[in-house]
Amino acid sequence: MKDIRANICEVVKSLGALAESADRDAAWPTASWEVLDKGGVLSWSIPTEFGGRGLSTLEQMRGNESLGAACLTTAFLLSQREAAVRWILKGPETLKQRFLPDAARGIGYLTIGISQLTTSRQHCAPALLAEPFEGGFRLDGVIPWVTGASGAQAVVAGAVLENSQTGGEQILFVLSLKNPGVKIGPPMALSALAGSCTSEIRCEGVWISREDLLAGPGRELLGKMGGGGLETSCLALGLAGGAIDWLGGESQTRPEVIGIFNHYEGIRSEFRGTLHGMVGAAPTPEAALKLRAGCTRLALQATQAALILSKGSGFVAPHPVQRWVRQALFFLVWSCPRPVASEVLEGLLGKIG
Ligand SMILES: Cc1cc2nc3c(=O)[nH]c(=O)nc-3n(C[C@H](O)[C@H](O)[C@H](O)COP(=O)(O)OP(=O)(O)OC[C@H]3O[C@@H](n4cnc5c(N)ncnc54)[C@H](O)[C@@H]3O)c2cc1C
Repeated sequence: MKDIRANICEVVKSLGALAESADRDAAWPTASWEVLDKGGVLSWSIPTEFGGRGLSTLEQMRGNESLGAACLTTAFLLSQREAAVRWILKGPETLKQRFLPDAARGIGYLTIGISQLTTSRQHCAPALLAEPFEGGFRLDGVIPWVTGASGAQAVVAGAVLENSQTGGEQILFVLSLKNPGVKIGPPMALSALAGSCTSEIRCEGVWISREDLLAGPGRELLGKMGGGGLETSCLALGLAGGAIDWLGGESQTRPEVIGIFNHYEGIRSEFRGTLHGMVGAAPTPEAALKLRAGCTRLALQATQAALILSKGSGFVAPHPVQRWVRQALFFLVWSCPRPVASEVLEGLLGKIG
């Protein structure tokens, strides 16, 4: 644990210096990703049997919170890889052997595109359909949101089965982005986190083998929560922490900031305690979503308080406050299921004046 703490300080410092360009440039943040690789971060989540460090979930949470404070764009790219890794770890041995040893050594990038089963396009016909075909499945449609798609070798994705007998059943699988019929769209023009290189992926008659399946066919493979898990709360807490630490620095010379810093610092440590308590404790969906809503509001409010105090100077790049304020908005739309959106909206609908 000690050497990870020493490493993370170096990683955080280097990532912080690159954070503005990672946020602004719609290009894979090569330098930032190299910082993660050299700092050993890419091996944290991979079990030792596949060549990784096999850190506990709590150790990873602690590290990821620090990364989220230093550079949300890179921390977000990492979080999508980690979500893919978690699914592969639940899958068959062949897929673990195919992807995890390379992932532990920082070779290739894995990502995830499952929002079409959870928080995106739920009011429309299924975005990505799968049809049993020649011993595997044929995929047609779109994976609307895939972070880091242009730099990825494969995406963990989900589709709905077309067949009427299995109507509504889902499959989760690993899709190589080299498969014929896979078309990666250009990175979207995002308001923040441009370096996350998020694209739509179109599938036209793409064939996958049954060996590529991670789960299913079955119903509600992603559980009832459908997003808003502890990992997203952790990154929101990290981002809020960037602003709270900045307020702490200001409070050293500006007495009027002391109370504001103490207010947000108190909430941060309370939420951090709740988050760490939930790790490994199988929290109820309601409790996890409540924490996610709280962390989102903390990120929005702490960054905006920092903007008020940093004044016009904080509105001008590369001052970090302008970046944090824009990035906090991301938590209103990323992996933000209806109960979280409703709770945050309720706060916004509160009395004004
Ligand atoms: C930068 C970024 C990166 C992301 N990366 C990933 C990723 O790597 N992997 C992943 O799985 N997901 C990812 N997501 C997806 C994310 O988690 C959410 O699923 C996504 O933000 C939902 O937005 P949507 O526009 O697709 O929602 P939708 O619900 O599909 O809404 C689309 C449009 O339809 C309208 N609409 C919504 N509901 C209704 C209704 N009932 N009737 C009529 N109109 C309606 C909305 O106003 C909206 O304009 C990412 C999102 C963002 C913004």
